[in-house]
Amino acid sequence: MAAKTYFITGASRGLGLEFVSQLKRAGHVVIATARKPENSEELQKLVDNKQVYSIALDTVDVKSVEAAVEKVNEIAPNGIDVLINNAGVSTDRSHSSLTTPPEAMLDVFKTNVVGTVIVTQRFVPLLKKKTDRKIFTISSILGSVGLTNYAGTIAPYNVSKAAVNMYIKELSEDLKADNFTILAIHPGWVATDMGGASAPLKAPESISGMLKVFDQATAEDTGSFKDYSGKTLPW
Ligand code: NDP
Repeated sequence: MAAKTYFITGASRGLGLEFVSQLKRAGHVVIATARKPENSEELQKLVDNKQVYSIALDTVDVKSVEAAVEKVNEIAPNGIDVLINNAGVSTDRSHSSLTTPPEAMLDVFKTNVVGTVIVTQRFVPLLKKKTDRKIFTISSILGSVGLTNYAGTIAPYNVSKAAVNMYIKELSEDLKADNFTILAIHPGWVATDMGGASAPLKAPESISGMLKVFDQATAEDTGSFKDYSGKTLPW
């Protein structure tokens, strides 16, 4: 398989870091971004400035995202093949629809929705320089409105993931004529800082599953919501 150029947010730890590790092993070029990349020892171990680069990017800060665009234009003047919107936050599990403080809603919404919008808008022109044009956004099954076994906790997180799903649908329509492949993807419940130690899946399994889904996805899949095993989920 030919080497591609991947751009990823939130690569300091968790799923983002594992994406970088597996993509490097597969021979791809990875531009890994994090709020403070220098503070992630594990990320820095992967950086070689030939195949893996790390740059600072805070997804909710427009200036930081625009500065990152400039740096990516230097590293990869021919553009990027794949954008992975991975950065995300959660909140106190006790916040239900009746009790959640507005600040918690705004905080989570800012990163999980607005940050994704800012990054996607700024990086679409870099994807358009090439032909693959793939955008994958790490969403969650907890944002599925159509699920019937809904557990009803962490209202701010669930609502934010439902909102980012709708953004992915809108984006898919708006870029339909440009041959993009745009998916929302649920990584499974994975043992990370966010997922917690009791999660049934380990990051390597989740990421290898998602990378398979990414490789197999084509423009015909645009506007779909899948999980790490390739199963289509209800929006
Ligand atoms: P972690 O909490 O382990 O990692 C979150 C990552 O997002 C960190 O690298 C963090 O950076 C980064 N981040 C947060 N805010 C920003 C920001 N404003 N700008 C840049 N980076 C930011 O979570 P996971 O790895 O588990 O989650 C990754 C994605 O997967 C998220 O979108 C999450 O919602 C989703 N997901 C996870 C599941 C799970 O079970 N783990 C299940 C379903 C979805 P920093 O180190 O600077 O804080």
